[in-house]
Amino acid sequence: MKEQACRKCHRIVSKVDSCPVCKGSSFSAEWKGYVVVRDPERSQIARALKIKQEGSYALRVR
Ligand SMILES: [Zn+2]
Repeated sequence: MKEQACRKCHRIVSKVDSCPVCKGSSFSAEWKGYVVVRDPERSQIARALKIKQEGSYALRVR
């Protein structure tokens, strides 16, 4: 099964009940764009997506 992305914060997750970042429980397999954030404070993408924790995120989640 394809990994899923959190609808709230776009974190990529696999088989979890709640998102490790925002504790949300709504996930979608319909996402596009894979971005790995290592340094959220210095990453422009992280700022644009309001990412505060390092990890893998989807650019777009449906
Ligand atoms: Zn989340």
